[in-house]
Amino acid sequence: MLLGEPNHTDFDIHFQCFGISVRIHPGFWAISALLSLPAGREPMPVLGFALAIFLSILIHEMGHALAFRKCGIQSHVVLYHFGGLAVPDSVGSYVGYGSHYSPRSKIFVTAMGPGVQMLSAVLLVLVLRGMGKTDGFLSGVVRMPPSWTADPIGQLQDISNIDGALLPYHALQQFPEQSRPGLALVDKNQDALITLEELVEYESELEVTGDFAMQMWAEVENKIPGRYVPRAMLEHLTGAHLTALQLADRGETMLILWDDVVSAHLNSVSIQNKFLSIFCFGFIQIGLFWALLNLVPVYPLDGGQITRELFVLSGTPNAVVKSLKLSIASGVVIGLVGMKYDMMFIGIMFFLLAYSSYQLLQRMQGRYF
Ligand SMILES: [Zn+2]
Repeated sequence: MLLGEPNHTDFDIHFQCFGISVRIHPGFWAISALLSLPAGREPMPVLGFALAIFLSILIHEMGHALAFRKCGIQSHVVLYHFGGLAVPDSVGSYVGYGSHYSPRSKIFVTAMGPGVQMLSAVLLVLVLRGMGKTDGFLSGVVRMPPSWTADPIGQLQDISNIDGALLPYHALQQFPEQSRPGLALVDKNQDALITLEELVEYESELEVTGDFAMQMWAEVENKIPGRYVPRAMLEHLTGAHLTALQLADRGETMLILWDDVVSAHLNSVSIQNKFLSIFCFGFIQIGLFWALLNLVPVYPLDGGQITRELFVLSGTPNAVVKSLKLSIASGVVIGLVGMKYDMMFIGIMFFLLAYSSYQLLQRMQGRYF
């Protein structure tokens, strides 16, 4: 974003990054703490999320700053309570345009921020997938189908889709007491677990087909749903599916309980270290979700600036006025969507941005109030 730069304070932190000077205003820590506190009650998850915010925003602003440099403009980065800024050092070179700072260059500089930020998040997703880990965000929160991002969490879905891999069972004790002695005969393999197959087979042995098996099964099923994977499936599966089942195989019965498969698999594909796990979750959430949100055509977000330059480039008359009208409309719509999905922070932020676009428009049209 390009807004006014905050004042220097005694608590500013300064450092250099790829030859660009970076200043962290204390307001940045305040907003990071506010956004990180919901991450957990313990310090580690909160710190993990705060580090994700810091790195992702720094990468975003470095994208703008390095793109500025490519256009021959020196700039510095400021992190503060509204996120980050990349500020050109010499206002003359910025405002004075010159051949090397055309609308095209502006679009390039603006797009490079969210561009490298999103790229860094995608890289982290690729690294995690390479390690066979889930990020917990794309399939967990966004509900993206795991197969789209090769999330190993999807292996559970795959296994449950393999024909014959997942069979229902019920423990003998779950059936009505008076029918248990009869059911002991049903239980051919003596594992105290009754499958529908065993029940139907017994029914047909008694030559009373259609009499009781389905009805009895449905009654128990209503009470306690249970699933198992027959141990025999181990022979038919390879690779990740086999590993998932072996992890859950406690070798006590002929069955591998589905609940065990689920919990063992979740354990193996999630990152166990709390700090790292929240860091990855946050870095991907901020780098994809927030960066995408920053690209909507609302001024002064990066998306709003790109839209304005595109209007200018296309030669439309009243380009800036039109971009501001689009900004007001998009801000209101996103604000309403945010409210609808209980994202108060986003709702309020976009209503305020829509209002500030409205004020800008009034000023441009020469109406003050
Ligand atoms: Zn930006």
